[in-house]
Amino acid sequence: MAARMPVVFISHGSPDALLHAHDAVACWSEIGRALPGPAAILAVSAHWEARTPTASLAGAPVTIHDFYGFPQALYRMRYPAPGAPALAERAVALLAGAGIAAGLHPDRGLDHGAWVPLSAMFPDADVPVTQLSLQHHGGPAAHLAVGRALAPLRDEGVLIVASGAITHNFDWIDRAAGSSASPWPAAAAFADWVGERLMAGDDGGLLDYRSAPHGADAHPTEEHFLPLFIAAGAAIDDTPGRYRPPFAYRGLAMDAYVWPGA
Ligand code: ZN
Repeated sequence: MAARMPVVFISHGSPDALLHAHDAVACWSEIGRALPGPAAILAVSAHWEARTPTASLAGAPVTIHDFYGFPQALYRMRYPAPGAPALAERAVALLAGAGIAAGLHPDRGLDHGAWVPLSAMFPDADVPVTQLSLQHHGGPAAHLAVGRALAPLRDEGVLIVASGAITHNFDWIDRAAGSSASPWPAAAAFADWVGERLMAGDDGGLLDYRSAPHGADAHPTEEHFLPLFIAAGAAIDDTPGRYRPPFAYRGLAMDAYVWPGA
């Protein structure tokens, strides 16, 4: 049996991270280089929600440029990794086995929450990837359960890459701020709170994050935080390492976490 693969959570930041968030991109590259080579990748992004968790059967996932008003260079980028339809079916079977209704999409590609960090982590785009959706109206507990159900994939050579945001309040964002600007204090405080909970393996505390200081403000809508619960669920008892690239635009914490596996 293959060794247990790590689990990765990435804060993907603004869609233009590949153009501007150089420290974060360098961090993603470093994470990718340190990982054992996966057989396939299950990517979860904040930018795909469906009625039930849904995995893509795409054989050659298209690169989805799901953003507006960014430099043309970003729209020219492609991430031509092969798809992983067998992994999609395996993921859905694991979810069904855990009593979680899940579905398959015939050809959904990779949105920027997936392809932007993968472009840095696996620049050769030679590892097959399928994307799994979030569950629309599913809360943190439902996504933690999805992650738990998918944990066996780690023993099958599959790398789970969950991509969202530790903080995602546009009122905290200063588009004029460079990477050396001091972070928005509430964003920094909440990012540290999350880090402490993850290091402690305190899933219960995390699930109640909206009661934590700045928790509800950090996520006026919840979809960017939900991938973290899938990662934490799949991590089971591993303790993560925290990477802390500079905040983007003062308000977007760019923290990444890697649960190391074995
Ligand atoms: Zn996003």
